[in-house]
Amino acid sequence: MDFRLTEEQVSLRESIIRFARSELSHDIRSFETNGSFPWDAWRKCAEMQIMALPFPERYGGCGADFLSTVHAMQALGYACRDAGLVHAIGTQILCGLQILLFGGEEIKDKYLPLICRGEKVFAQAITEPASGSDALSMATRAERQGESYVINGSKIFISNGPIADAVIVFAVTNSEKKALGGISCCIVEKGTPGFKQCKPFEKMGLTTLLNGELVFENCMIPLERMLGKEGQGGIIFSESMEWERTLLPAAHIGTMERVCETSVKYVKERSAFGKSIGSYQSVANKIADMKMNIELGKLIVWKAAMLKGQGKRASLESSVCKLFVSESLKKACLDAVQVHGGYGYMTEYEIERDLRDSIASTIYSGTTEMQQNIISRLMGL
Ligand SMILES: Cc1cc2nc3c(=O)[nH]c(=O)nc-3n(C[C@H](O)[C@H](O)[C@H](O)COP(=O)(O)OP(=O)(O)OC[C@H]3O[C@@H](n4cnc5c(N)ncnc54)[C@H](O)[C@@H]3O)c2cc1C
Repeated sequence: MDFRLTEEQVSLRESIIRFARSELSHDIRSFETNGSFPWDAWRKCAEMQIMALPFPERYGGCGADFLSTVHAMQALGYACRDAGLVHAIGTQILCGLQILLFGGEEIKDKYLPLICRGEKVFAQAITEPASGSDALSMATRAERQGESYVINGSKIFISNGPIADAVIVFAVTNSEKKALGGISCCIVEKGTPGFKQCKPFEKMGLTTLLNGELVFENCMIPLERMLGKEGQGGIIFSESMEWERTLLPAAHIGTMERVCETSVKYVKERSAFGKSIGSYQSVANKIADMKMNIELGKLIVWKAAMLKGQGKRASLESSVCKLFVSESLKKACLDAVQVHGGYGYMTEYEIERDLRDSIASTIYSGTTEMQQNIISRLMGL
């Protein structure tokens, strides 16, 4: 095992950090106030080809391997303070991976260049008002009528949903089979009659990530918009969760690195009772825990990324990744607020935002409890 980054990975990491520091320094607070999406920053990331990283060159991608893409996300999470934007980009890449892995040539030719160029925004819609953790008990139906599917139902909490140009929608095509071959996946484009994108929800954190409800009322799409084969939705779901539970935690590791660095600097500079607060063991222990979790998180994220890059299954590794890194991120952000004292609690110092942003990481892509269920099930319990 060699844990060193290759020269290319080091230079990719450095170029993303330089880029994010110079180009992604938008005033997040103003976006938080007016609830808008940072389009300029999105376009700059597209120009930087971040969304294009893991896709073959023939679709306009950079042809990077998945581990390098993961290093790039880690760098982005580190140098870009806007976790909502980072999540929006992660969602775009994950939609592209679903299309790359399961789409026919026509679908790949049509959508992948748009994803790579960031010209169109993509979303994936699984969760429904009555089914989140129990995702495959969904009620949204896609019924075959002649040369079309007619979709009815609604999806909730969909990242990029309110601004998406196209959505990968999971729906029931055979209610008798349901999770066992009765769920399918299709692409619905903005403007399709019967497809309504509702206004974004107001939420605790990740404010620049626009997240909302999607409604389908007799929404008719051509058969060719099916992603994979009819009934393959369950397989697409489990496969894409493994990529998602590896890619998003990579960005969280980056955030933890930034939060840790900021905290180290602060506890060295801030004094109380005649000494720097970092010299008090109960403060230093919080920093040591951050560092420990960053180092352990990197190992499991990189391992899962390597397995996925080699085309292997990583159910266990990706669930451990998701569970460990999201819980560590939440703890690191809470401890960062604590070691910054009153300043940490004030919005002006931009420490509390990371904490608000971190909370969602233990909910989306399957909650902490669901990861525990998956891990214990894989252990035969
Ligand atoms: C910021 C954000 C972005 C999101 N983006 C997307 C997206 O792009 N696309 C999408 O489809 N969805 C998205 N989601 C939805 C997310 O995947 C769901 O919220 C999540 O899966 C949990 O589902 P739920 O909210 O229905 O909670 P529930 O499933 O109702 O769970 C509520 C609580 O019960 C616990 N629980 C439920 N079942 C069990 C069990 N069997 N054992 C133990 N505990 C259990 C859960 O862990 C949780 O603590 C997003 C959510 C957020 C917050």
